[in-house]
Amino acid sequence: MVDIGDKLPKEVTSFINGKWIDPNPRARRLPIICPATGESISMLVEADTTEVEFAVQCAKETFRSGVWSKASVDDRKTVLLRLRDLILENKEVIAKMEVSNTGIPIAQAYGRQIPRSAMNFEFFAEFISQSSNPVYDQNANYITYVGREPVGVAGIIAPWNAPMALASMKLAGAIAFGNSCVFKPSELTPLGFICFMEFLSEAGLPDGVINMVNGAGHVTGAAITANEDVDVIAFTGGTETGRIISAEAGRTLKRSVTELGGKSANIIFADADFDRALDAALVAIFSNNGQQCLAGSRILVEKSIEDKFIKAFVARTKKLKIGDPMDISSEVGPLISKAQLDRVGRFAAMAREHKGIEILTGGKLAEGFNKGYYFEPTVVRAKDNKQVVCQEEIFGPFATILSFDTEAEAYAIANDSKFGLVAYVWSTDIRKIMRAQAEIRAGVIWVNTPLVRELRAPFGGFKHSGVGRDGGEWSRLLFTEEKTVSVPLTDFPIPKLGMGG
Ligand code: NAD
Repeated sequence: MVDIGDKLPKEVTSFINGKWIDPNPRARRLPIICPATGESISMLVEADTTEVEFAVQCAKETFRSGVWSKASVDDRKTVLLRLRDLILENKEVIAKMEVSNTGIPIAQAYGRQIPRSAMNFEFFAEFISQSSNPVYDQNANYITYVGREPVGVAGIIAPWNAPMALASMKLAGAIAFGNSCVFKPSELTPLGFICFMEFLSEAGLPDGVINMVNGAGHVTGAAITANEDVDVIAFTGGTETGRIISAEAGRTLKRSVTELGGKSANIIFADADFDRALDAALVAIFSNNGQQCLAGSRILVEKSIEDKFIKAFVARTKKLKIGDPMDISSEVGPLISKAQLDRVGRFAAMAREHKGIEILTGGKLAEGFNKGYYFEPTVVRAKDNKQVVCQEEIFGPFATILSFDTEAEAYAIANDSKFGLVAYVWSTDIRKIMRAQAEIRAGVIWVNTPLVRELRAPFGGFKHSGVGRDGGEWSRLLFTEEKTVSVPLTDFPIPKLGMGG
């Protein structure tokens, strides 16, 4: 067993140009809380605008030096694969750091978060070695090809809900294509990255390619987006923050992609494989403690199976094992923060007071915990999709069940949302599935499956769930500039100007 005690620094500073920055005595300190106990386990030393500027300039100089931006694809691939290996070799310590800081049950850190983080590096290592650029040879006088170059300095801003798995997707994409980065994890969850930063040079990544700055969004994050030398922003987080970041990217004319919130419909038709749909509905809303953008938080069940489904779903929800996230048998851990616990509690209170909503289980703090941010997995039945619990992203272990009579009604409810990230569809009728995928306005449709991430395919949302996509080719579009080069094949006649007498 790895004890993370010796890995936990008293203070977490920024990591710039291959080194941890000495703590600035005047900098603001923010406590890093363990959600399982509510106690502070370390302190974050906030990077101000000057420190962010230093990180950006290091990233920019490293980029300009060509040490990484012009490294061969084979060399970049080797480093990315080595990063994958180091994550897997050190999975125990990374998982424990991440769990101590997020409350994600450790079985899910081992089963999903850490393998996915490693896979992100492997995927982009393979992707860069296999991708090619178009050549246009239709014009007899020219051959025109499209080259690609890294954009420059990528600002990567990440959320707290799946810190390593989400940030590593952006970091791997950015560096695979030769960019340098200034990366800011959520101020709530920097710990998983501590070991990771130390692997960078071990993997052979030159100093200054990945720089990490820590601090609150409106301070450190805003300093990244406002910086004119940051060329591209990859943001994952809440919809309101996405709005601010997009505006700032517009003001400073940098490209950006925003992956934002969701309130995804999980549509279960009467002809679905009931047992699989039930298992998957639980996974879709209760894994990661319900704190995931792609949660199947609105379960829409066809009327004829409604009673059977509710009975089975509520019975299984009551049996979920809530516990210490470090315990391998825990299925649901604590929420990230007191603020998040209060937020989920407020939705439960709203549900309790509303005549059109029935709380079927949960709706209160979990019993048996005298510390930490544990909330009982909650299931409510709503009569009308207009109700707040059906419209707002609650971001906790909180499922809302609605019923429908007809296909048209199911799609109308699914689309009656400001979000459009993911939709789940359960049916054994292929024609119905094809109608559903055509009708539903969401960036990803999962048919008869819970969460699956195909890294080659685009991931992102419609409407308020974001702008842009990531994944294979879409990450390449984000992190590279295209350069169109035309080369003549003949001495075609050039008009002769200035020859007049
Ligand atoms: P958040 O928007 O509060 O914060 C995300 C990041 O942005 C943090 O690092 C934060 O410090 C930073 N930030 C905040 N204000 C900023 C500003 N003004 N300028 C620059 N940076 C700023 O989100 P969160 O609470 O950390 O994460 C939860 C949200 O993320 C949920 O809405 C969830 O749906 C969403 N999310 C989306 C995806 C996706 O792929 N679509 C994935 C995971 C999470």
